[in-house]
Amino acid sequence: MQGLDAEKRFVDAFGLARAGQYLSGELALAEFTRFCEGLTPQAGRVQWQVQGEYNAAGQAFLTVQAQTIAVLECQRCLRLFEQPLQVSNRLEVVRSDRSLEGDDAPDAVERIVGSSRFDLQALIEDELILVLPYVPRHEVCPSKTVETPRVEPTENAKRPSPFAVLGKLKKPSAP
Ligand SMILES: [Zn+2]
Repeated sequence: MQGLDAEKRFVDAFGLARAGQYLSGELALAEFTRFCEGLTPQAGRVQWQVQGEYNAAGQAFLTVQAQTIAVLECQRCLRLFEQPLQVSNRLEVVRSDRSLEGDDAPDAVERIVGSSRFDLQALIEDELILVLPYVPRHEVCPSKTVETPRVEPTENAKRPSPFAVLGKLKKPSAP
């Protein structure tokens, strides 16, 4: 397990954007150690795509897409289940941290600081972490779908069950 090769992992973010370059690849989900922290061991693969873009105003963008299936523990029934994750985000690449401040308009595009040695794998990982459900759970837990056998009300229901009576008798008594 080595992750992306250095030459593919570290890219010139601005060069990539200016050239309108498209990169794609596949990685084991287990390579994303920050993502996997606290999770059950992951066997899934991540398919990722990054598209560079440069507009007339001189702004650089990266569109990141990634798909994977994570194995998560349902917080309701504590069983493991497969959760498909889908990343699709367009980010503006800026030169410095200072450019990250200022424009706080809610519809403003997310910004990241680019560099000539920009860690693509870390970017993909950040985006995967963002789509990881905070409280993972089944839409419908398997255990909840099992019908509990319903006791048909019969004449017996009107009388106390012999077991209920027994239960009362069995209360802890003084020795
Ligand atoms: Zn569940």
